Amino acid sequence: MLSGRPFLQIPGPTNVPDRILRAMDRPVIDHRSPEFAALTREVLPGMRQVFGTRDGAVVLYPGSGTGAWEASLVNVLAPGDRVLAFNYGHFSALFARTARNLGFEVDEVPLRWGQELPAEEVEARLKADRGGNPYRAVLVVHNETSTGVTSDVGAIRQAMNAAGHGALLVVDVVSSLASMDFRFDEWGVDVALCGSQKGLMLPPGMSILCVGPRALEAGERGGSPRSFWDWRPVIRDNAAGFFPYTPATTLLFGLREALKMLVEEEGLPAVYARHRRLADGVRAAVRAWNLQILCERPEFYSDSLTAVVMPEGIDSDDVIRRARERFGLSLGVGLGRIKGKVLRIGHLGALNELEVIGTLGGLELALAEAGVRLELGRGVTACLRDFA
Ligand code: PLP
Repeated sequence: MLSGRPFLQIPGPTNVPDRILRAMDRPVIDHRSPEFAALTREVLPGMRQVFGTRDGAVVLYPGSGTGAWEASLVNVLAPGDRVLAFNYGHFSALFARTARNLGFEVDEVPLRWGQELPAEEVEARLKADRGGNPYRAVLVVHNETSTGVTSDVGAIRQAMNAAGHGALLVVDVVSSLASMDFRFDEWGVDVALCGSQKGLMLPPGMSILCVGPRALEAGERGGSPRSFWDWRPVIRDNAAGFFPYTPATTLLFGLREALKMLVEEEGLPAVYARHRRLADGVRAAVRAWNLQILCERPEFYSDSLTAVVMPEGIDSDDVIRRARERFGLSLGVGLGRIKGKVLRIGHLGALNELEVIGTLGGLELALAEAGVRLELGRGVTACLRDFA
């Protein structure tokens, strides 16, 4: 057992601040009581602010990001409906697979892992879609957690408009929401989906959706056979502050505290600026180590994580193991086809400069021990200079 606190620097779940832990450390209350209804009525408007929506419906389920994928699809798509998806990392590929597993017809466009989703590609695919069964939805992952690449959701919506196509825009914001700028209304998103365990600084346990008017209408008219994930009864009962099932009561107390911290106290623009600042410091260190950032174009760098490519002959799992065993530092593994080739530094959620410096120090030592040729201190120094 190592002394001191463990460093959880995977790209989610993230560190839960003591304040949030304390807010959840309380007796469970009756979820049919007026006290519970008041809690619901407090957290839903706060979540609307985080999503950047005035009238979008926020839907909370016990679950995780994977459940949120399913919820976002079964409410608006019917079996046999066609969807357009892109494979530019592990999670965009899994989102497409979820759609296929549910019986939708998925056109999955392969892209490079390290590349963003180009708006022009979306526009071209939609313009070419002239058959009798048009795409009903375009599936987008805002921040690919496997590659550390962000895509421009606003530009993708403009491309969809330019193509004159009526497909819904369904966006995974699992590793971007509450860490990076996201604007549900302004960007014309129809469904956004998330979990509780990343930018919101909560433990895992909730699937969170934001649903716009076109998606609500699609859900009213059709969708798939569904029960637990049907958002209609949730939205109906939420109006009075309740849920059609037992909600994750304790997490909702945590969410109320998280929203206080993010929206009222620090303020969302400052939260995004902090993530940018910390990410810049991490990237300065990676460059000083002469290691490659997997994201190809700097304008699409993720502010919530950085995926670092290992030099020839170095296994990222070995570096990660050394960091964990020697320093109690957890880093993200390479997922899917990039297993062993990259490691991921999570820099999202409750985090500050000192924690980033500690993380980089531990990683620098682990890299050196694993055989990466670097001059000790260079990466950390580059980060310090960036922060100064
Ligand atoms: N989408 C993205 C972008 C993710 O990063 C993850 C998990 O890391 C998921 C979906 C799946 O979420 P969960 O693991 O909460 O089911």
